[in-house]
Amino acid sequence: MIRRTYLIGLLSLALLVTGLDGVAHAAIEVNSISRNYDEVQAYMADLVAKYPLNAQFFDLGLSDSGAVIRGLKIGSGSVKNLVVATHHGNEYGSTEVAKGFAASLAADPMQDQTVFVIPVLNIGGYNKRMRRESARGQSFDPNRNYPGPCGTEGPFTLKSTGALAQFIDVQGIVSSATLHTYFPAVVYPWGLSSRDLSTPYDDIFKMLAEVATVESRYQTGNSTEVVYAADGTYEDYAYWKYGVWSMLFELGYSHSPTQSQVDEMVRVNVPGLRRMFAQAPRERAENHAFAGRCINKAAMAASGVIDPRYVDRHDE
Ligand SMILES: [Zn+2]
Repeated sequence: MIRRTYLIGLLSLALLVTGLDGVAHAAIEVNSISRNYDEVQAYMADLVAKYPLNAQFFDLGLSDSGAVIRGLKIGSGSVKNLVVATHHGNEYGSTEVAKGFAASLAADPMQDQTVFVIPVLNIGGYNKRMRRESARGQSFDPNRNYPGPCGTEGPFTLKSTGALAQFIDVQGIVSSATLHTYFPAVVYPWGLSSRDLSTPYDDIFKMLAEVATVESRYQTGNSTEVVYAADGTYEDYAYWKYGVWSMLFELGYSHSPTQSQVDEMVRVNVPGLRRMFAQAPRERAENHAFAGRCINKAAMAASGVIDPRYVDRHDE
């Protein structure tokens, strides 16, 4: 009798372990939409536990919410690249794509690369599903918070943006993908208020956007021309200040994607992200100064450089 109970106990323990293990695997593969930052951290912890040799936690720094901004360092190659999602707290679909990409990298790191993945930059906004980030009783748009040649709403009035800027400097980040929702498009500098939107590297940027969108078929092009002009963004800052190959993903078709829409966003963007980082240059761009002239956005709309509908459209 005692023996039988013991056996049943062992059997149920085995079933329980299998069950828990099955749930953990399903969470990575199905990419269930996280409801808050604690759940994102739990997802990252699962990856670290499953792939301890490939993925480790790192701390970016303290955010104005009081929480520490964390990410995963995946792989051990000499070229250091970066993925950052959810500058805008309501754009939770971008966090899901970052999670899916982190899972892909943890299982199979990029050759010769270390990729840092930050699934949520704006923790306070993410937990409230709000675009802006609060600090000292005010709120700021995190992706207008960097210095830039044509202006900024900051700079660095948020701890998150300051910590990210310091990180790309200290780590020597070469290429980055910032994930937002939605348009859909994959775009490149310059994205600021100017008619002078070319860089000396348009061909490389075009190639990176094209290889990133083989599966998604998203629109590609210059950021200002495809989306709209915005001053003080991470994407222009990283390229302008350091020559980072800086690509902006406006993912999907909604700020409120369903689970099946999220699954599709992950499915069509993870292979493109892998291909983009595989083909990106191994060194930063050398000639990354802005040599153009800044003009105001109303003038740009009036002269047809940007679509007037997008001048005040600050929702992507
Ligand atoms: Zn955004």
